[in-house]
Amino acid sequence: MAGMQYTRFDILVVGAGYTGLTMALALSHRLGAHLSIGLLDRNPWNTHVADIRASALSAGTVNALHRLGVWQDLAAKAQPVEHIDITDPIGDSPLRQIMLSYENTVDGGDDTSLAASWIVENNDLRAALHGAVANDEQIKICPAASVRGLETDAAQVRITLDGADTAVHGGLVIAADGGHSPLRRLAGIKTTGWAYKQTGIVTTVRHDRPHNATATQHFLPAGPFAILPLPGNRSSIVWSEASDTAAQIMKCNDDAFLEILSDRFGTRLGNITLDGPRASWPLRLQLARDLVAPRLALVGEAARTVHPIAGQGLNLAIRDIAALTDTLADAVALGIDPGNAETLAQYAQWRNFDAGTSALAFDAINRLFSNTNPLVRSIRDAGLEAVGRSDRLKSFFVREAAGLTGDAVPSLMRPLNNAAVDDTGLALAPAEI
Ligand SMILES: Cc1cc2nc3c(=O)[nH]c(=O)nc-3n(C[C@H](O)[C@H](O)[C@H](O)COP(=O)(O)OP(=O)(O)OC[C@H]3O[C@@H](n4cnc5c(N)ncnc54)[C@H](O)[C@@H]3O)c2cc1C
Repeated sequence: MAGMQYTRFDILVVGAGYTGLTMALALSHRLGAHLSIGLLDRNPWNTHVADIRASALSAGTVNALHRLGVWQDLAAKAQPVEHIDITDPIGDSPLRQIMLSYENTVDGGDDTSLAASWIVENNDLRAALHGAVANDEQIKICPAASVRGLETDAAQVRITLDGADTAVHGGLVIAADGGHSPLRRLAGIKTTGWAYKQTGIVTTVRHDRPHNATATQHFLPAGPFAILPLPGNRSSIVWSEASDTAAQIMKCNDDAFLEILSDRFGTRLGNITLDGPRASWPLRLQLARDLVAPRLALVGEAARTVHPIAGQGLNLAIRDIAALTDTLADAVALGIDPGNAETLAQYAQWRNFDAGTSALAFDAINRLFSNTNPLVRSIRDAGLEAVGRSDRLKSFFVREAAGLTGDAVPSLMRPLNNAAVDDTGLALAPAEI
């Protein structure tokens, strides 16, 4: 096209959120010596987008962040979760009856155990990812570039940008452009799912008593209420509430908000005070019907949005990233074009089952627990008691949530070489990975 300027990359990642930043780092780590990598976002580079959330990161995700040189910046600010308590309060008792309590640790080898998950504040995670990408000379950042169009032919994919006579083209585009993914729409990939009539309210509190590295999930009738431990006597709250009630709660002044919050929080950690602002997210389940299109792969929220009940959205995104990186690295090692249809089909096959079943499992758990029917309650309580009595079942669930089960754990997420453990309590990455 006359006047059009082109930039070419072998692989272009669109979207520099948590998923896109990690995707670019993983590609650089495995393929940076062989392929050119671009990272494009509609926002200026490193815009400060305040995100008051904290994320529960599985051990598999932490392994990946460690290999990518990100965890080293985060470890001192991260809180390990060593125990999990699940309560199913009946009535309004502030003393929440614990239905299931378990150690949230995995075998670290040599008779050691490691936390199966960690809580990090999203602003710290974003800063650590930005720092690692900015220091990575293999990643070319294209800021303030909003995707407008997508054209694909047998040999390449071309992206046109809003308000600019520029286009980016290459062999493969990876869509990490979030739940509303413009690229998914441009590629004609449909989604399926539904809105929950629930809103996720998030805030941070300070409490009198120490949390002892325990995460607590209160299954309240209106939705799950999670207390995620942070360093110090602080916790991040992820509170799912019926949407109309949530809208009223969000309008309350701080005193009224704290009173409602304290009722749900219970009394186990003593008095609480607010330790930051609040924000809310409408909750929905959304699954892309396909994870790939010609020369395009979806990762993270572009591929699916799940209920935050199990704190797994970003963990699933990291599994996408790790699986796609392994698949592309295998293709490149064989001299195959990484954007070819067969390579992408392998990625889709690898991720479809795990991600689809996880999303539906979180949906089912939310339905099962956001329920006041006595029969449903008694069945699920019997299920929780059965899990509580079985060490094998508990250990299975912990390893599953840690992202470490199955033969198909992608290499980025596998446990690190245990020969040496650094002061973050995690094994050091061997030089060759
Ligand atoms: C209340 C709540 C709690 C959660 N807790 C957890 C948890 O504990 N653990 C966990 O694992 N997950 C959790 N999640 C999920 C997790 O936050 C998300 O999976 C994660 O934020 C998704 O990030 P993303 O990078 O895929 O998408 P986004 O953050 O939406 O990033 C998309 C990027 O694409 C860019 N973009 C969009 N359109 C264009 C365009 N046209 N051109 C160029 N760029 C574009 C945007 O600017 C943005 O930077 C939670 C979610 C919620 C709502």
